[in-house]
Amino acid sequence: MLKELIDQFYLNRQRDKDQNHFYITDAGKCGRSIFFKFKNVPREQMNARILRLFDHGDYIQMQILNSLFSLGIVRASEVQIPPQELISGRADAIVTLNNELYVVDFKSMHSMIFNKLVEPKPENINQIQLYLHYFKIPKGILLYVSKDTSDLKEFLVQYNPGLVKGLLKELVELNKKIEANIVPQTLDDFPRNWQCAYCQFKDICSLAGKKEIKWEDFKNKIEFLGK
Ligand code: SF4
Repeated sequence: MLKELIDQFYLNRQRDKDQNHFYITDAGKCGRSIFFKFKNVPREQMNARILRLFDHGDYIQMQILNSLFSLGIVRASEVQIPPQELISGRADAIVTLNNELYVVDFKSMHSMIFNKLVEPKPENINQIQLYLHYFKIPKGILLYVSKDTSDLKEFLVQYNPGLVKGLLKELVELNKKIEANIVPQTLDDFPRNWQCAYCQFKDICSLAGKKEIKWEDFKNKIEFLGK
């Protein structure tokens, strides 16, 4: 009945997610997993319930944005970074507080994770740092919302040019590997890194070993194994 139709709707939407350029959310993430996305390597599919949870998070974030609009402090929302070759991304909002501009990025999570949060997550800092860089705004706010209790926590982030330079350099290097068909090495602490726990390529990744390898050789191997 309806449940099957709704599940299928979410699963179909997931299939459209092929990648052919970097997103800001890729910054600082495992290069091998991004490589696999670019090469359309088959990935473990997320189930419809998890996909609906993501949607729920987006909905909560929209409610927070609405309250900022009502306060009259939003200068722009869903703002694309200026077009350039390497990367694309869309900041949640740019607001004015005390005559100063801030980039705001919302993050929603379950209260079990939210309650333990005493500092912003490194991957969220990477993301907002790139927004600060591309918008040329020196300050940002990471606003975390607990999905099930609606509690809020916020962290001020100052632009860090050294960090941004490192992130952009990593993406340029990864781009060269993607073009040269070289599968990057795993994360140093594979498979214990938190990214590996959530990685949709973890089975394929363990077949490739830890070091860099040629994509053509590995592709033949996974095709042979029917992956
Ligand atoms: S399992 Fe870990 S090292 Fe391998 S691709 Fe995924 S995140 Fe990267």
